[in-house]
Amino acid sequence: MNIVGHEKQRGVLTTFFKKGSIPHALLFSGQEKLGKRTVALWFLKMINCENKNAPCGKCRNCYEITEDIHPDIINVYPHEKEIQLKQIEELIGKMSMKGIRSSFKGAVIDRAHLMNTQAQNSVLKTLEEPSKNTIIILITEYPSMLLPTITSRTLQMKFLPVPEEEIMSFTKDRLSASFALGKPGKALDYLNFPETKEKEKSSREELDRLIKEGLSYRFTKAKSISKEDNMEEVLKCWLSCIRERMREKIKKKEKTDALREVLKEIERAVFLSSKTNINKQLALEKIMIKL
Ligand SMILES: [Zn+2]
Repeated sequence: MNIVGHEKQRGVLTTFFKKGSIPHALLFSGQEKLGKRTVALWFLKMINCENKNAPCGKCRNCYEITEDIHPDIINVYPHEKEIQLKQIEELIGKMSMKGIRSSFKGAVIDRAHLMNTQAQNSVLKTLEEPSKNTIIILITEYPSMLLPTITSRTLQMKFLPVPEEEIMSFTKDRLSASFALGKPGKALDYLNFPETKEKEKSSREELDRLIKEGLSYRFTKAKSISKEDNMEEVLKCWLSCIRERMREKIKKKEKTDALREVLKEIERAVFLSSKTNINKQLALEKIMIKL
């Protein structure tokens, strides 16, 4: 099975499996595209695999979990930037029924921070009284957006960027591995959609230019980017670039206060744009002032 990195987390999960002590609820946190969901599905395959070398990736259970068609594994995704109560109620209903093919039922809630308050409260009730032989895995970039009572009832596992060399051994392409900035999912995007790399390259160049130019150019650009559909992608690319610059500065023991401010502003805009319909131009202008 192709999983890049996260050996420590996989080791912990393997120990749970071998000891037969599967937790009721896990919370996978960390930046997007690190492979949190891949590891979650890998673990569910391990629990449900029909072969000794679990997860074999080949048996019916493994195959159906990969294809998201397994009757006992429920995947919840946000609809229009929100996970609603009815989605969680449906999940709870399915989890309380006897397994169709497996004795263990699993659920993965992706981008869990997008659960609205009612949905979160509903999840909380399930976590307080979990059904036997069930596991819920919450995945999020923003664990602080979850109710503290949810967080405290889950076993939290943090996911960190994967070393470039490990990504390189997977992609066999130095440029993709270096551009991916520790995110195997990004490296995979570059392989599957080469145009992504080109788009990112131009977003990086644009950021370089914006930093050099004055406010009037920056504001004109804010207006034009706000009208494009891919603003979130552009911002995420900038976020990676700024993080990269910060790391370089830290290595050289230089001050990072100004970059930190920019980072915060971009993070805020990315978060808001993932959640609500924000005033895009205003959010961009705030970033432009800090650049
Ligand atoms: Zn299998």
